[in-house]
Amino acid sequence: SPFLEAEDIWVEFNGKPAVKGISMRVDRGEVVAIIGPSGSGKSTFLRCINHLQAPTSGTVKIDGISVREGKGGHPKSKELTQLRRRVGMVFQQFNLFPNLTAVENIMLAQVQALGRTKKDARGRALALLDRVGLEHRANHYPGECSGGQQQRIAIARALALDPMVLLFDEPTSALDPELGAEVLGVMKEMASEGMTMIVVTHEMSFAEDVADRVAFIADGAIVEQGNPKEVLRKP
Ligand code: ADP
Ligand code: ADP
Repeated sequence: SPFLEAEDIWVEFNGKPAVKGISMRVDRGEVVAIIGPSGSGKSTFLRCINHLQAPTSGTVKIDGISVREGKGGHPKSKELTQLRRRVGMVFQQFNLFPNLTAVENIMLAQVQALGRTKKDARGRALALLDRVGLEHRANHYPGECSGGQQQRIAIARALALDPMVLLFDEPTSALDPELGAEVLGVMKEMASEGMTMIVVTHEMSFAEDVADRVAFIADGAIVEQGNPKEVLRKP
């Protein structure tokens, strides 16, 4: 069975469907780009994958375990909390804590959610800052960093929880092209290292150069899906 499987996901807001029966299978190490017009349900579908949004109906399974019900239908199980925690998410607006430094932002969930010691969490945070090219920003606050730097800190924070899959919701849309390119560079590296990624994006070059597959969503449904070069070349 596939590593990640979303089956017939529907989401309604006030009785009006925003996601209309989306199914998607993602293999381990695969990078899927989701493209499509604004308001078509891309973000809502993405949020169903880590249960930030509860679908009206349909199931998402990761490694065979339902993100709604856990193993064998125990929705409060510790296992389920751990599973959701290991679906990392990177948002358009970074969502860093403004009163914590870069290294503290990356340490926090490691200590609170995973119970790592501060010393371990700090070591891991510094290694990840190095990996995204920001070791020199460790003790700076988000407000002292550029948007591109903030987003790379947010990516390091997601990586710190050892995610099984990373979800990106328009990670470069709030950035100038130059700063967006820094973020895309980090994402490209992660892809080449085998991270499983689902990326909602308007960056056609990322979809074409990095993604293994592109899904085009319109009006709540996948209308086209496949090899990036084939999907993106269609009129
Ligand atoms: P996209 O990511 O493709 O821009 P969204 O998933 O954000 O689309 O939104 C799809 C539709 O669902 C839009 O009409 C949006 O207004 C609506 N929507 C999204 N979130 C909510 C919500 N929390 N409550 C009500 N409507 C919502
Ligand atoms: P994005 O398109 O980047 O996802 P939005 O500005 O559409 O961002 O949505 C931001 C937040 O507002 C999300 O939590 C979304 O679920 C919610 N939202 C979007 N549309 C609506 C809506 N029509 N009614 C209520 N909440 C909404």
